[in-house]
Amino acid sequence: MSTAAKPRVAFIGLGIMGQSMAGHLLAAGYPLNLYNRSADKMAALVAKGARACASPAEAAKDAQVVITMVGFPSDVEEVWLGPQGIVKAAHNALLIDMTTSSPELARKLAQAASAAGHRALDAPVSGGDVGAREAKLSIMVGGEPAAFEEALPVLQCMGTNVRLLGPAGAGQHTKMANQLVIASTIMGVCEGLAYAKAAGLDPSAVLQTIGSGAASSAQLNVMGPRIVKGDFEPGFFIMHFLKDVGIALSEADLMHLNLPGAKLSKSLYETLAERGLERAGTQALYKYYEEPQS
Ligand code: NAP
Repeated sequence: MSTAAKPRVAFIGLGIMGQSMAGHLLAAGYPLNLYNRSADKMAALVAKGARACASPAEAAKDAQVVITMVGFPSDVEEVWLGPQGIVKAAHNALLIDMTTSSPELARKLAQAASAAGHRALDAPVSGGDVGAREAKLSIMVGGEPAAFEEALPVLQCMGTNVRLLGPAGAGQHTKMANQLVIASTIMGVCEGLAYAKAAGLDPSAVLQTIGSGAASSAQLNVMGPRIVKGDFEPGFFIMHFLKDVGIALSEADLMHLNLPGAKLSKSLYETLAERGLERAGTQALYKYYEEPQS
């Protein structure tokens, strides 16, 4: 796509991730329609030239590309297929869901989009709030190769590693694999830091040492320093992580696959959610290990 012919993009869902991602599209010169459930989250991008809309339908009706980055599968379904949904409102458009959602819903949306004359992709992301801010996300895509090629220039504004993994649903399956790795890794990060503290070590010095060794990971190097500072603000909400592990475990059941690490991680996070921490960041898992252990 040349600079002169950038298609109009509608971006729906302007939370922690969507705010930065939509900002990169605007900065790259894409004319941008916005919609978010809480209207105040549109203000910053409207000030930079985007157009605020009153519904997903209004955002989609004159857009060639429609991107959704909402919270839960139920939100995706409402925004795509609800009475004010994008499938009905858009005209011959490329519809991309970047929410972490279920592979089954991705296949259903692809069929509905195709029946309405659109192209559809599932394109969830990894890289967290930092990756979104720095436009360095990994973007895992499911759908038809032609739609992937069409989407690439837009997706490359938000990520550095954009891959087609297979047909509709393959992006979400890949994201589930990603979340399963994180589910067990974040437990290890918290346990290592809890152990270091109990042993009387300086946790920052421990992080600086093991962060470049064989234990190195994004979880250790991004979440570790937040834990040491006592910063439990959300980069990634516990409630969204519980959603993801729940989807992964349901899919694993269908494949007759036992995932004990994910089950344990889910039960620990459920304990924290019961304590009112569902809107804390996933690094707040450390609080579990601060409890007196018998
Ligand atoms: P978030 O801050 O809660 O953002 C979601 C946004 O979507 C909110 O602003 C919300 O509106 C809006 N929304 C929800 N339902 C809507 C609807 N029906 N209509 C219109 N807008 C709606 O969450 P996030 O952290 O950006 O995450 C978004 C998605 O990406 C989630 O599926 C999450 O699992 C996934 N993800 C997150 C990260 C991360 O590190 N944060 C990384 C990778 C993937 P309100 O403002 O009214 O709540």
